[in-house]
Amino acid sequence: MNKLAFIGLGNMGSGMAKNLVEREFPVVAYDLNETALDNAKSFGCQIASSAQQAVKDAEIVITMLPAGKHVKALYEGDILNNVSPHTLLIDCSTIDVATAKYVATLAKEKQLAMLDAPVSGGTSAASAGTLTFMVGGDTEAFNQAKDVLNAMGKNIIHAGEHGAGQGAKICNNMLLGASMIATCESFQLAQKLGLDPQVFYDIASNASGQTWSMTRYCPVQGVGPDSPADHEFNGGFASALMLKDLNLAMKGARSVSADVPMGERAAALFAEHCDNGNSALDFSSIINKFT
Ligand code: NAD
Repeated sequence: MNKLAFIGLGNMGSGMAKNLVEREFPVVAYDLNETALDNAKSFGCQIASSAQQAVKDAEIVITMLPAGKHVKALYEGDILNNVSPHTLLIDCSTIDVATAKYVATLAKEKQLAMLDAPVSGGTSAASAGTLTFMVGGDTEAFNQAKDVLNAMGKNIIHAGEHGAGQGAKICNNMLLGASMIATCESFQLAQKLGLDPQVFYDIASNASGQTWSMTRYCPVQGVGPDSPADHEFNGGFASALMLKDLNLAMKGARSVSADVPMGERAAALFAEHCDNGNSALDFSSIINKFT
């Protein structure tokens, strides 16, 4: 089994590292937060006192960090200057395409293989080991990463070259953000026009308006399978994280002069929703904006 270093054991990283330990990978963990480290120790990680120490003997380094600035700082500093030759680097954080490409270029200058491998699925899939990984980088590195990614996920997809994993992630979430808004406003309008939400669901979920946001993650309480709407929008995928991903999509769109009017509108609506104190609520809570 490859020796792993895992850096960033927050909401997502803790579940992912636990699955690696359960599959008998030796995992050395590091996080700036003591509570995250105590938790990692409780499920069997060896704890490092610094990122530098964590990566020193690792054959594969996995990072799961909040944003691009954390990834850039950690790779430019502790990681790339302290790993052994032939170490494979896998960043699973959701970050902007430009930073993902930049860090991979720095790694390449040191003859190190790197993959951007953001995930879809949220904390429940991280704990269950059922994440989807969208992977950008060389085929050889992708093949080398498969065992370790399979220990944390159920769909491992090679999206293309460096940055393609992040591109797939932000385009998927731009589609999700916009389709959730369209689903929410349709339910609200249907009700105002006199339709019972369950009746509208029964019709639209079997008609051309069907969306994942409707049939798998319905924003209306008591309609469709169990979802955050049935739990006062607690749990699930926070509106703040949806806004983060939409802003990354807007940055990506600007970088290639792409026209994304629906994505832009979705980003503006989620920004307002977060400003109104809903950042921590699941993103489907945006239904409350449309009265
Ligand atoms: P989190 O804030 O819970 O965890 C991040 C961890 O990184 C924290 O424990 C923090 O202390 C640690 N950290 C930050 N800088 C560090 C450094 N320099 N060295 C060591 N540790 C450091 O965030 P999360 O919810 O686990 O999300 C992680 C990433 O996954 C983000 O990029 C997020 O966008 C993405 N993501 C999250 C979800 C979700 O549902 N939470 C779903 C898909 C993708």
